[in-house]
Amino acid sequence: MKTDVLREKSQKTLNNKAVKIAVAKGDGIGPEIMDATLKILNAAGANIEPEYVELGEQVYLSGNSTGIAKETWEVINRNKLILKAPITTPQGKGYKSLNVTLRKSLGLFANVRPVSALYPYVQTHFPNMDVVVIRENEEDLYAGIEHQQTQDVVQCLKLITRPGCEKIVRYAFEYARVYGRKKVTCMVKDNIMKLTDGLFHQVFDEIASEYPEITSDAQIIDIGAARLAANPENYDVVVTSNLYGDIISDIVAEIAGSVGMAGSANIGTNVAMFEAIHGSAPDISGKNMANPSGLINASISMLAHVGQAPIGDKIKNAWLATIEAGYHTADIYNEKNSKKKVTTSEFADAVIAKLGQTPHKLPTSNMAEGTGTITIPTYKRRVEKKILLGVDIFIDWKGSDPEEIGQALSSLDAFKLKLKMITNRGVKVFPSGMKETYCTDHWRCRFVSKDTQVDAQPVYSPVDYDQVVALLSKLYDEGFDVIKTENLYEFDGKRAFSLGQGE
Ligand code: NAD
Repeated sequence: MKTDVLREKSQKTLNNKAVKIAVAKGDGIGPEIMDATLKILNAAGANIEPEYVELGEQVYLSGNSTGIAKETWEVINRNKLILKAPITTPQGKGYKSLNVTLRKSLGLFANVRPVSALYPYVQTHFPNMDVVVIRENEEDLYAGIEHQQTQDVVQCLKLITRPGCEKIVRYAFEYARVYGRKKVTCMVKDNIMKLTDGLFHQVFDEIASEYPEITSDAQIIDIGAARLAANPENYDVVVTSNLYGDIISDIVAEIAGSVGMAGSANIGTNVAMFEAIHGSAPDISGKNMANPSGLINASISMLAHVGQAPIGDKIKNAWLATIEAGYHTADIYNEKNSKKKVTTSEFADAVIAKLGQTPHKLPTSNMAEGTGTITIPTYKRRVEKKILLGVDIFIDWKGSDPEEIGQALSSLDAFKLKLKMITNRGVKVFPSGMKETYCTDHWRCRFVSKDTQVDAQPVYSPVDYDQVVALLSKLYDEGFDVIKTENLYEFDGKRAFSLGQGE
């Protein structure tokens, strides 16, 4: 069964009923750029009905540590759309980022950032770049699960899920199809993270095969990011996980010369949020000098999303014509290409005056009809056979000689389990470690069934969990400081844990 994420909104548009949107004017320059944007949307005939909501600095300072009131959640959930100006997170008081809260609470799994050059009007080394970064928005290291486990070691859990990968990769290919893009590049680090990034890559290959008309390509993130920075014109759509996407989307916006001009869409199955990528710019707030282009571009994506692509094109073309005509806010003003340094409101008026016109040199915007209808199939979990093969037990131990802890654990009566190896920071240090390896107080001790043959190609035997519990009890009795365990499984006969480096 397919879930049409936008059926409801598109239907409203077809019925000529205004699409209701929650509008947050935000903090700093937020109200100025939002007023400018709404004035343009209104003049262009966008069929929308704003419902204003409060979130951000004032809500935080009123004592609500989330930065968003209960009533605001109700309005967002009812309207399923939010156009949001940047907000200020008060510093130093431990407030949680409202943006991360909104993205995760509303299931906004895709962060879509289209960036194209506006050369020669905005300076860039890459006049022809036109890249869309589609970043997974909910998981990866941004799950924010961190622990200090020993005096010397802290950890952050990287969570990559199959449904998360399927949604974002499918979205990227559907986006490419609907917006007439030719190529999707996936960026991962699966030469190192074979399970987490390996899953992202595997899902990418699976889904890419369903879109033969679109070229697909997978790159390792380090060289991929370098090539993207050196030759962005070779890229079209880039899909990647949360942290890599956070980094490369800023690189792409920066090298286009227009970090203050890009908009972003945060897309979920039921709700979508549109915003500029920049912050609330308190240094220029209240001066009527901010560039409203980032929010204007976000609102154009919103119109396409709700099935009003022609109005989006009308605004985009007027905006391009305004940039071409040299009406520039202070941030992009330059002697060579600018005709007039305009205020925020003058820029909006200039765009309104050009509604109905198209740019002369910059490419005209012409989004396909139905651009808003991207479909994501409901996730179906496959049945897989899961077998326990052992356990990694993490121990806080202040000694320095791996032989010492290795011998102690090997001689332990571990019932039906035996020590296979110990690693420190992922590198095998027992048996047969190297003297040069630096060891912290964080020891990962791998126990497997006594029946397991530990040759070069180990053949693991199943383990019962009560054996693991008995081993943990024994370790506690013997005075070992167990800080964490990870079970070792196979799924459908496939080993589902990484080997130690040097194992
Ligand atoms: P910022 O993007 O607000 O400002 C960085 C620089 O860019 C400043 O010099 C600013 O004047 C300039 N700038 C930004 N947008 C501009 C525009 N539209 N026109 C002209 N110049 C513009 O980043 P920051 O200073 O690091 O953060 C300020 C506040 O914004 C912080 O409280 C931060 O938490 C918040 N923030 C919010 C969001 C969001 O709501 N999505 C995103 C990033 C930062």
